[in-house]
Amino acid sequence: MATSLINSELDFDADGKQTGYLRLPHSTHVSAYGWQPIPIAVLKNAEGPTLLIMAGNHGDEYEGQIAVSKLAQGLEAEGIRGRLILLPMTNAPAARAGTRTSPIDDGNLNRAFPGDPAGTPTQMLAHYIEAELLPLADVMVDLHSGGTSLFYPPTLLRGIGHSPEETAMLMRLQEAMDLPYAWVFTSGGGRRSTARTAMGAANRNGVVSVMTELGGGGAVSPEILTQTERGLRRGLAALQMLPGYTPDAARGTREMHAAGVVAARDAGLFEPLKEIGDEVTEGEAVARIHFPETPHRAPVEVTSPHTGMALCKRVLARVEIGDALYQIAYDAGTR
Ligand SMILES: [Zn+2]
Repeated sequence: MATSLINSELDFDADGKQTGYLRLPHSTHVSAYGWQPIPIAVLKNAEGPTLLIMAGNHGDEYEGQIAVSKLAQGLEAEGIRGRLILLPMTNAPAARAGTRTSPIDDGNLNRAFPGDPAGTPTQMLAHYIEAELLPLADVMVDLHSGGTSLFYPPTLLRGIGHSPEETAMLMRLQEAMDLPYAWVFTSGGGRRSTARTAMGAANRNGVVSVMTELGGGGAVSPEILTQTERGLRRGLAALQMLPGYTPDAARGTREMHAAGVVAARDAGLFEPLKEIGDEVTEGEAVARIHFPETPHRAPVEVTSPHTGMALCKRVLARVEIGDALYQIAYDAGTR
């Protein structure tokens, strides 16, 4: 496999706490020999597992970016066991622009794995994570939110595990992170995963991985940020990486499977009739689409093709045909 042109300023084998940049070469009109800085922190001390925590995989998802920055500042190497690799702003060009995809190449990092060392900046970054960082890791946590267009309650996303050890580790992480919801995938994963996501990259590397969805709407919810920070510290403690931390009592996680999406079939203005957490029955009206440009035209009702609970909701009012309005999920074990 070709080697990456991305250089790390940090030594992943050195003890202590380091912060700096991955240097992603990017030659432009105004910066001929320049590089894009991908911020990174590494904390290493004593024996223990390697945990990679990523945020800003999508640039417009913010709770994770703040929570990981606070971890980098709040922890010292002496306080941990093992190695913690933190990417607070993984697709940094997208995060600096506040956009889901990178303005440099329109790349969606979480659809770019396994990447390409000779490709676009986003493809180079995906390749570096899959071929250089994940082989160092035992566990990966990839922190997402609903982004500009969607809003989720704090939700852990995980697979079902392909071995008793992986399943046990996934359950340990889910219980430790203690988010109100878990969206459990019923298929996929494993070493032969073809997924273009960071989770797919982790699976191909044999790295146990979970994702999150944490709020969204291009904003930061203080309550969700608090739950995120608590979840990360509890996760570190569950991996025996945070010896000085005593977790408080768990609150419990409602395990769901995805039923599907409710999509707009008209372009117009979205009036939600359901909120996150509401129960929805197949055929029930969950939204109206209004047409203020043609006031003689009556609004159209959008019905749900699925029965379950509204797990996420679109934030933006303007919709086009095909935009997701809701994600519907149902309780695990009920069908
Ligand atoms: Zn995302």
